[in-house]
Amino acid sequence: MESSPLSTFKQYETDSYLFESTGKVLQVNQLDSGKYEVIVDRTIFHPQGGGQPNDEGVIKSDDAEFTVEDIKLNGDYISHIGVFSEQGQTFEQDQEVSQVINEELRRKYARTHSAGHLIDMAMDKVGFGHLEPGKGYHFPKGAYVEYIGVVEADKRDQLKQDLNAAIKDIIDNMREEDSSVAKVHSYEEAKEVLGCIPPYLPEGKNVRIVKLCEDDKGCPCGGTHVKHIKDIEGIEVSKIQKKKKNTRVSYSVVDC
Ligand SMILES: [Zn+2]
Repeated sequence: MESSPLSTFKQYETDSYLFESTGKVLQVNQLDSGKYEVIVDRTIFHPQGGGQPNDEGVIKSDDAEFTVEDIKLNGDYISHIGVFSEQGQTFEQDQEVSQVINEELRRKYARTHSAGHLIDMAMDKVGFGHLEPGKGYHFPKGAYVEYIGVVEADKRDQLKQDLNAAIKDIIDNMREEDSSVAKVHSYEEAKEVLGCIPPYLPEGKNVRIVKLCEDDKGCPCGGTHVKHIKDIEGIEVSKIQKKKKNTRVSYSVVDC
């Protein structure tokens, strides 16, 4: 197949609730492992990254079905790694294919990930907004967000209670029309929106900023999100612990 620069349009960035789509095959490669790599011009499959697991699903044509087991972001394109349902099956270059992701999992991942953003908002509301968010882990089991700085041991129980109350309050009182927004900004624009740009973002590159609602100050993020805060349904902050120089807030999301 020809070697033009490969590029995949990330449909999951424009609509988290797109569970079926189509696409045009750019390349199919057999890997050393015996599995195949399928590259399509657009995809609804979110790769693992930013603390979020990858999606699961299939890519299909009239006579072949490909189960996606792993998804990797390689610069401008996305590799779907997996297996065809029968030996000898493949896709041709430029062939139109359909894509279907597991909707139940996508919804769980989007809710668990968005819950991390909501905890950021709640931290601000209960007077801990000065602690900058650090890393996050948004798998449904064992999810947490970490903040840079330590909350003293005797204040952690109160913080946990305050966070749970603030989260409930935000969800209960969110206006129906106040939806989440994910928008791509130029580097300069992003600087204005965020106040300052975290050092891990490459200078000069566009920045996608996600806001869960109008009041959310927003943060740079490539993940999938709920359309409305009420879609998160409920969060239980279960534990607040010191982790080296950070404070870890562990949580679970209702029915995830
Ligand atoms: Zn996010």
